[in-house]
Amino acid sequence: MIHQYSGISPKGDLLLLQKLGEKLENKSFLHINSTKAGGGVAEILQRMIPILSDLGVDAKWEIITGDDRFFDITKKIHNALQGNPEVITESMWEYHFDVNKRNAELMDLDADAVLIHDPQPAPLIEFRKGGRWIWRCHIDVSNPVQEVCEYLKRYCEKYDAAIFSVAKFARAMAVDEFIITPSIDPLSEKNRELSDEEIQETTERLKIPVDRPIILQVSRFDRFKDPLGVIKAYRTVKKYNDCILVLAGSPATDDPEGEVVLNEVREYAENDPDVHILLLPPFSDKDINALQRISSVILQKSLKEGFGLTVSEAMWKGKPVIGGATGGIPLQIVHGVTGFLVHSVEGAAYRIRQYLNNPEMALRMGEKGREYVRNNFLITRQIRDYLSVWYSIEHKEKAILEL
Ligand code: UDP
Repeated sequence: MIHQYSGISPKGDLLLLQKLGEKLENKSFLHINSTKAGGGVAEILQRMIPILSDLGVDAKWEIITGDDRFFDITKKIHNALQGNPEVITESMWEYHFDVNKRNAELMDLDADAVLIHDPQPAPLIEFRKGGRWIWRCHIDVSNPVQEVCEYLKRYCEKYDAAIFSVAKFARAMAVDEFIITPSIDPLSEKNRELSDEEIQETTERLKIPVDRPIILQVSRFDRFKDPLGVIKAYRTVKKYNDCILVLAGSPATDDPEGEVVLNEVREYAENDPDVHILLLPPFSDKDINALQRISSVILQKSLKEGFGLTVSEAMWKGKPVIGGATGGIPLQIVHGVTGFLVHSVEGAAYRIRQYLNNPEMALRMGEKGREYVRNNFLITRQIRDYLSVWYSIEHKEKAILEL
């Protein structure tokens, strides 16, 4: 499996990966998050576990379960960490803990390394049996509600290490902290090359016209992704350039707000026949891939974003991208070189028109974007980094990574 990445991923990453795989062979590496499908964390884990196994690591993936109340609370915690003024009461925190306790009773937490993704399963640390425990934060915690952050820190500081996507997200904590950017898998169904027939099959089934330029945003229906802002930008562009807007999203089991936001978006679009709002079933990877490939411009106009996998997916397909200048997106897009960063609806509309009116420039930037993703944001690099962190906390006595 890993050899399939040769010629695609940087050679150095592959060499280091293999070495680390040898060092950590047969050791168990357990990942725990809160959803099997929907959102970037599940997207990465689906692809990472088989690659880790192929490297010889005993990789496992568990998902915590909870009821509606639990996911309402964890979504509020998520929103508060991204800066929304939410209050998490003592009894909500207790419930968060109790659900984790019940999960811990049902799960085998015994592993050489345990990587806990995001706040939902963070209290599992209280039930640690052994091994190295690492907390992985995927969200934009650059400006959180302080009380919520402080409460969560009680759990995080019990871990051996914490990993953030961007340096400015790291908090002052009494644990080792690492920065690792997320990644995409070039060989997945979401990102592999598609034939013209495959693309056509998708556009016909989803009834997407291909006679005009397509503007696309792929996202969960979440206000932080600013779907209404995307529609506003499209409306400005539409006055000058005839185009189609596609907003594609699917539900995530740990995101209870999706339906409400989807209804808001539908209402706001006012039955415009050129705005296509697609609620796709989970695992619609080939359809998303096809939509990205037929688009002229791809947006991720987020207002808060840990790291936008959709941005890297679009760039990997050589597409011109526009991203909200927030969270991890400025690491992904080199403004004016591999895409454009925007701060407003007006900025987004301006950049969409710039791309549509300069297809050669769009093509050039798209090509640079693809190489930028190749060198920085492929899954082989991310696995290399996870294994390096694990290896380094096991061998703290070594000043540098000696393999
Ligand atoms: N995604 C998908 N179907 C959808 C919406 C999103 O498969 O309808 C995928 C998208 O392609 C990307 C991931 O979900 O791989 C979203 O990750 P991102 O980091 O952009 O945002 P998150 O949802 O984690 O906030």
